[in-house]
Amino acid sequence: MTGPGERLTAVAGRLREACERAGRPADGVALIAVSKFHPAEAVLDALATGHRCFGESRVQEAQAKWPALRERCPDAELHLIGSLQTNKAAAAVGIFDVIHSVDRPRLAAGLAAAMERTGRRPRCLIQVDTGAEEQKGGVAPAALAALVKECRDVCELPLTGLMCIPPAGEDPVPHFRLLRSLAAEHGLAELSMGMSADFGTAVAEGATMVRVGSAVFGPRPRPGA
Ligand SMILES: *Cc1c(COP(=O)(O)O)cnc(C)c1O
Repeated sequence: MTGPGERLTAVAGRLREACERAGRPADGVALIAVSKFHPAEAVLDALATGHRCFGESRVQEAQAKWPALRERCPDAELHLIGSLQTNKAAAAVGIFDVIHSVDRPRLAAGLAAAMERTGRRPRCLIQVDTGAEEQKGGVAPAALAALVKECRDVCELPLTGLMCIPPAGEDPVPHFRLLRSLAAEHGLAELSMGMSADFGTAVAEGATMVRVGSAVFGPRPRPGA
C-alpha cells in the first residue's frame, strides 16, 4: 500500500515535470503538503522523505498536532492556508511561518500587534477573492490596493505575495492570471495558487507555491474545507 511519503515523492516528481514544461527552474516552486485533518502519523511518513514544508487550515488543529512534530523536525516550515479569525491572530503568529490568508485590515492589525509582542514575523500573503465568492474569504480585487497599503504602511507586515482559491468546477486559469497580474501590479513576488487537481496549470501560470493535500495524504477523513 502506498503511503503519504511515497505519494509525496510522486507529486514532487510531477511538480518538477510541470516546472520543466513551463521552462521554469525546479526549485522555483515550493510544494506545500497540506496535512489538514490527517493525523501526525501521516505527517511523520511525509517527513521521513526529507520534505519539510506543510500546510494546515486551522489554528487549533495545528496547535494540537505540530508542537510534537516540530520537536522531532525543528526545520519544518508550517503554512496557514485557511481563513483566520482575528482573535486567533496571536496564536497563528506563534505557530506558523507563513500566513496565506490575510484579507482585512482588522486581521492585519491583529497580526502586527502579535508580531510586535513576540518578535516572530511570519511572512504574510493576502488572499484575494478572485471568484467573488463571499463565503471563502479573501479581499475583493477592487479592495486589494487599499489592503496592500494598510499592510505595508500602517501595519508594516512582512507582505510577500498573494493567494487565491478558484471556485470549484470553474476553469482556474483566469483566476491564476488575475492573481498574477495583481501581484505584479503591487510588486509582490510570491503567488500561492494551485491544488491537487490543478497545480501543473498553476505552475504554467507562474505559481511560486502550490498547496497539495489529497494527492499526498489521500481523501480527508472529514468532509469540507
Ligand atoms: C485543503 C486546501 C488545499 C488542498 O486541497 P487539495 O485539493 O486536497 O489538494 C489547498 N488550499 C487550501 C486553501 C485548502 O483549504
